[in-house]
Amino acid sequence: MQRRDFLKKGATAGAGAVAATSIIGAPAIAQERIEIAMVSTWPRDFPGLGTGAQRFAERVNAMTDGRIVIEYFAAGERVGAFDSFDEVASGNAQIYHGAEYYWKGKHPGFAYFTSVPFGLTANEINGWVRFGGGQELWDELAADFGLKGLMCGNTGVQMGGWFNKEINSADDFKGLKMRMPGLGGDVIAKLGASPVSLPGGQIYENLVSGAIDATEWVGPWNDEIMKFYEAAKYYYYPGMHEPGAMLAIGMNNDWWQGLSKSDQLIIEAAASMENEVMMSEYMAKNGAALTRLINDQGVELRQFNDDVYDAFGRASDEVYAEVVEHSDLARRIHESFLQARTDIGGWTQLSDQAYVQQRNRVLGM
Ligand code: CA
Repeated sequence: MQRRDFLKKGATAGAGAVAATSIIGAPAIAQERIEIAMVSTWPRDFPGLGTGAQRFAERVNAMTDGRIVIEYFAAGERVGAFDSFDEVASGNAQIYHGAEYYWKGKHPGFAYFTSVPFGLTANEINGWVRFGGGQELWDELAADFGLKGLMCGNTGVQMGGWFNKEINSADDFKGLKMRMPGLGGDVIAKLGASPVSLPGGQIYENLVSGAIDATEWVGPWNDEIMKFYEAAKYYYYPGMHEPGAMLAIGMNNDWWQGLSKSDQLIIEAAASMENEVMMSEYMAKNGAALTRLINDQGVELRQFNDDVYDAFGRASDEVYAEVVEHSDLARRIHESFLQARTDIGGWTQLSDQAYVQQRNRVLGM
């Protein structure tokens, strides 16, 4: 008997008390034990990115009292970092945690769901994805590859990168071999650099050996752990390429669609919580790490000058002109992003930006 029929019959027959008892008992019996595999693009226990992904997995286990068991595999433990997408799209694993811009070779639209040059800050991208049409476009894009994505972490504004020479003009990028994934890599390519996309676990060895001349990674807290200062002493800010790098879980869409509504909500809640927790940790730890890098490691902090930033801007325009030619979906994602940058970014200028500027001026910061 269908439960709806049962309810109706129970009510019409005037046997409400009996019906209610049976209905309350029913859903508990149907609770299904779920065991799945989760892969990621991060080294095991890497602070922030890796520990955040692991916290998400542990949180789902804990929220369900062990009913949903996620076995977590860091980069290289099951598949290589950049094989995470195919592992989940194919159904070999059910979830990955990573940065969507690693998949720009599959479709440039993915880059927008991490961060793009002259893009959105963490608060701004949360607004776009949740209330500005971003999630709907992301769903359309991911579904084309058999996936479903959700926000699950953010690093905030990233640093511009580590260089073994000063960057005083756009010409200083000519011939530079630099680790920079996403559309940011395409931007520095327009300036004559050779961008490479390496997973986090392989950057240090490439920088120390001289296989690459420069790298970006995240920000002071993470970059200090990577010891990049041993091979490059100029540390530039701010990064035009990742003003608020959003991390994500990608799930096999057939598996996701087969979950009960309550299990979907549990996963959404765990991902949403990590989206906020990870950002909080970066905000709490970056400042002190930067002080240590300068005072203890002799790192030379530098700001990209306006000429360099103007060149980044012109190169970004060229990159975006190519992205929108890729496909109708790429164009719609770009246009939605542009609208969000105007609407949400305009408000940021009058709110966070104007306030912080005045606060720090008055305090002499
Ligand atoms: Ca980065």
